[in-house]
Amino acid sequence: MHAIGIDLGTTNSVVAVEGHYPEKGQVCENVTVIADEFGRFTQASAVCKAGDEIVVGDDAKDMISEEHTPVRFAKKYMGTQETFRVGDELWTAVQVSAKVLEHMRSMVERALGGTIQNAIVTHPAYFDALAINATKEAAAMIGLNVELMMEPIAAAMAYTYSDRSEHLRVLVYDLGGGTFDVTLVERTSGAFRPVAFGGNRELGGYNFDKSIALKMLASLREKGYRLVIDQNHPERDPRWASLMHHAEQMKIKLSSAPKADLRMPGIFRDDSEPSKSVSMAFSISRAEFLESIKDEINETISATKAVLAKAGCLSNPGAKSENDPNAVHQLVLVGGSSRIPAIQERLTQEFGLTPHFSEDIIDLSVAVGAAIAASQMGKREGQVLLQNIPTGTDRQKLTIAGRVLPSQELSDVANCVVTVRGGLDEETTTTGGNGGFHLEVMLNEESENSLQIVVESPNGEVLLETTRQVKHGEAIAPPPPKPKPPLPKPISVATDRGLKVIAAENVTLPYSNTTAFVTLEELTEVPLDIYQEDMLLSTLAIKGFSSPVPENSRVDLKLEIDDNYNMKVTASVPVASISKTQEIKLQKPVIPNVDEMGVQLKQLEVQYESRLGNMPDGDSKARMAAECDRLIEELKKILGGEQPERIQAFMLLNRFALLVKQISAMGALKPSKSEFEDLLKAIGELLPQAIQKRPEIAQQRLGDTVEILKQQATKAYQEADPGAWGTHTKKVAQIKEELERIVKGGPEPEIPPAPILKMIITEYIDELDQEVAAGQGNLPPNIVERAKSELRTARQKLGACDVTRGKQAQAELIGVLQQHVAAAGKLLNRDSRGSKVGELPT
Ligand code: ADP
Ligand code: MG
Repeated sequence: MHAIGIDLGTTNSVVAVEGHYPEKGQVCENVTVIADEFGRFTQASAVCKAGDEIVVGDDAKDMISEEHTPVRFAKKYMGTQETFRVGDELWTAVQVSAKVLEHMRSMVERALGGTIQNAIVTHPAYFDALAINATKEAAAMIGLNVELMMEPIAAAMAYTYSDRSEHLRVLVYDLGGGTFDVTLVERTSGAFRPVAFGGNRELGGYNFDKSIALKMLASLREKGYRLVIDQNHPERDPRWASLMHHAEQMKIKLSSAPKADLRMPGIFRDDSEPSKSVSMAFSISRAEFLESIKDEINETISATKAVLAKAGCLSNPGAKSENDPNAVHQLVLVGGSSRIPAIQERLTQEFGLTPHFSEDIIDLSVAVGAAIAASQMGKREGQVLLQNIPTGTDRQKLTIAGRVLPSQELSDVANCVVTVRGGLDEETTTTGGNGGFHLEVMLNEESENSLQIVVESPNGEVLLETTRQVKHGEAIAPPPPKPKPPLPKPISVATDRGLKVIAAENVTLPYSNTTAFVTLEELTEVPLDIYQEDMLLSTLAIKGFSSPVPENSRVDLKLEIDDNYNMKVTASVPVASISKTQEIKLQKPVIPNVDEMGVQLKQLEVQYESRLGNMPDGDSKARMAAECDRLIEELKKILGGEQPERIQAFMLLNRFALLVKQISAMGALKPSKSEFEDLLKAIGELLPQAIQKRPEIAQQRLGDTVEILKQQATKAYQEADPGAWGTHTKKVAQIKEELERIVKGGPEPEIPPAPILKMIITEYIDELDQEVAAGQGNLPPNIVERAKSELRTARQKLGACDVTRGKQAQAELIGVLQQHVAAAGKLLNRDSRGSKVGELPT
């Protein structure tokens, strides 16, 4: 039973196993990186279906043909609902990753025999809870028990394994194929922790390949070839896959040569009618290449500076004295793209640190670190979980500990007998109620102890019999303890002032904390929107109050995150003695297509411009405006470019939407809320009187119309949207005037004629459509779909209504309003992003 470590990479994956097996791969420290039958240590994280067969790894990567293209880089989309084409099926990133994990596991099983059940799988530092959970899901799919670990910590563990310094700070610069990750890792008394991290999940060798592939595409088009490639799914076009493949090879060549050429007559066919065979002749110099990726390189440098600044050691980190707690002792390069010589030169020049770079381990260090950590996990042998036993120690007393796990044959695991022979004396003990045991063995001094460990059930059946060699007199530093996982992204609650952080980035897990909020109005239900960075994670509604919770009541929100990133919130309202606990269920977002995101961006821009003016002037306005302008510019650049990275645009769009929401919330509103409430109260009194006077008013269901307007206005209020607030409150005021006129017995009121009614309803539908578009991505997809379908039906019915038919038309229109428009409004409102809680004033 071996413990393995898997680096599940965006581009390549690597597996290592504890122990020395020089004939099976490359030995590093106390582990071996397993090679495949061709001696390759890295395997492409690629999956391809050819005929009935699913191919994984390097073999899949190269399978580009007219019939199929391999799925690659699926990890970029972990934690989303994005799908990839595998044969005739659409697979999620989780399914693709499960296949890759299975492939890596089977490499070890083939090399060493036996079956593997446990592994440590790594993930980038800034993977969010969704992506982390998706990684666990992938492992669960193939029945692999996993613990997760951050990639940079694994890399730092591998690089510092034999460094004995008490205090060590390592800057890990990991530029891989699809992601860039920079982390300052600290080791004190053998324990690792990330001091600060940053990066970009959309930056890596893939982008470099793309910049070359786009140049190739442009040169082909210049030569008159017609090549139409799907903007949303370029990877499904074998011609694009082929360009990317050749681009990567040229890029790699440029790391050692000043120029790279590609000549391929008949590389593929174009889209002319009839199609022409495309002949490729392309060359690129290193200087041209570096020029085309200079923005990306600059970005990695600024991200590195930001991480050093967060950790308080930006200025000349390499020149600080050894003992300065802020000194950075090593700069470690990880990831295949760090091989680009220009990057190494630039890092030296910027930070005064000589990159620690080893050609042997640059791609492997993450898996090596994971396997080192896995060797610490303790091993399960049959029914017994035995804690790690060192191979050497300078202490005479050695603790042997473990646990007997219940099985069908042996459900009561108490009173099993554990015996250890081979030390100074034979030692024996029995297990407790939960099967746990530990005993201390005195070792024979200055010699090799061959310890035989036997565990027997109470009726004498042998559950475990194993021998371990422990040398006394030679202290072998135990592998470092597995670090506590850090929280990758902050968790917040939406308040009237924007997001209030309830768990900061990088707090260690498990984590628990209680934050107090106040209700901003009288509520029968207290809704709480919980965010992870810019993304809505969950909406929790505390219900079941015997009477409404008054305005200004305190709400205590306890957040608990376990070390598996499972989150739970408990909200308590002390005045009502009500408390509610809810697991935060993570909703994987759907990444919209490029056109949809373009529309969303336009809508958000309009909202942003109209709402910014309502914000009080000051620093925060200037800051938010600058950030919004930057986001707009970047989004336009991405969405307007060739083959935009959809996930990247999606992340930025989320961020922009959130800022727009905050800007809205900070603007002031007119008329006041209480004035509006007075209006509603007046209508409540006037309506029955008006119906008494004119029974036909009951047919018009004015009450329902007011209800819808109230909903709209409330939403506008929550969103501090002065425009919408003004429109809806004005309509309500008009209804009140109308009713007053009826009750006072004035002249015959003008019933809003059908054409006008139709116009008003169309306006609502337009507004709701906009909300749907703006909410996409944030709202659960099923809600969005249902709302869309209601609105579609409403529009159809409205279109079919003949407004010249007077009263009958009016009744029809009101029907549409009540049945479909209101339903859509409710769906959106139920998940409205408006906030009903605020921060507790201190
Ligand atoms: P990931 O962590 O994303 O799985 P890796 O660390 O395996 O990625 O790095 C893979 C990337 O490194 C690919 O984009 C590959 O093209 C790039 N790469 C490998 N060798 C070189 C090289 N000599 N020069 C430039 N890029 C390289
Ligand atoms: Mg990697």
